[in-house]
Amino acid sequence: MRSRLLLAVFALVAVFGAAPASADPAPAASASDACFTWDRELSEGASGADVRQLQIRVAGYPGTGSVLALDGEYGPATKAAVNRFQDAYGLGGNGVANQATFDKIYALQDNDCTPVNFTYGELNGCNSNWSGGNVSAAEAKANALVSMWKLQAMRHAMGDQPIVVNGGFRSVACNDAVGGAPASRHLYGDAVDLGAGSQGFCALAQQAREHGFREILGPGYQGHDDHVHVAHRSSQFWSAPSCGI
Ligand SMILES: [Zn+2]
Repeated sequence: MRSRLLLAVFALVAVFGAAPASADPAPAASASDACFTWDRELSEGASGADVRQLQIRVAGYPGTGSVLALDGEYGPATKAAVNRFQDAYGLGGNGVANQATFDKIYALQDNDCTPVNFTYGELNGCNSNWSGGNVSAAEAKANALVSMWKLQAMRHAMGDQPIVVNGGFRSVACNDAVGGAPASRHLYGDAVDLGAGSQGFCALAQQAREHGFREILGPGYQGHDDHVHVAHRSSQFWSAPSCGI
C-alpha cells in the first residue's frame, strides 16, 4: 500500500510539476525573435533603443503627410503611430506597445529585420555591399530598412497585394549610369522605385501619402510616367500631376 501511495504521489508530482510548463502559453517562444526582442511593454514617456526599434517598425503609420521621428522617444506621435498599426491589424490597442503588438511585429519580420514582403536584395540592384553612395554603407542600408517598413504598411493598407520594387539604393556610379539626378535620394538608400503592379501607378502614389514618404514622384512628373518613386527627404516634395498630386 505504502509503495503504491508513494507511486501515486510521484505521479501527481510528475503531472502537476510538468503541468505549468506545458500549459504555459510559451512566452519565451513568442517573445523572442532572431532580429530584435522587446523585453518590456512600451508606452508614452518611454525612451531608449527599444523605442527606436519600435519606431522603425511603425514608421509606415505616421498619419497623412507626416513622418515619424526615429528618435527613441515615445511621444504622442509614436503613440498615434502604434495605435494606427494596432488598428490596421485588428489588435484593438490603445497606443501602448504590448505583447500582442510585439508578437505581430515578430510575425511581420524576417530574421534580418526586413518586413516579410520586402528584401535588402530588392532594394539594392546596384551592388552587394551598399557602398559608394552619399552616405556610409551602414546608413544607406538602415535607410532602406525604414523604407521597407513604410512599404509594408502601404502594402497592407492596399489589401496585401504584392508591391513591385524595381530598384532602390544606387552608388554614385550606378546613379550616373542610369542618368539619375546628382542629389537623388537613391544615393541615400531610402528611395524606392515602384512598378505598376496590380495597384497601378496612381493608386500607389496616392496611398504613399499615408505612409511616411516625404518624396513621392509619379506620372506627370518628368521621367516618372513609368514608375512611382517614393523616398525620404528633409521637406515634403510630392509631384504626380497625372494622379492629382
Ligand atoms: Zn527613383
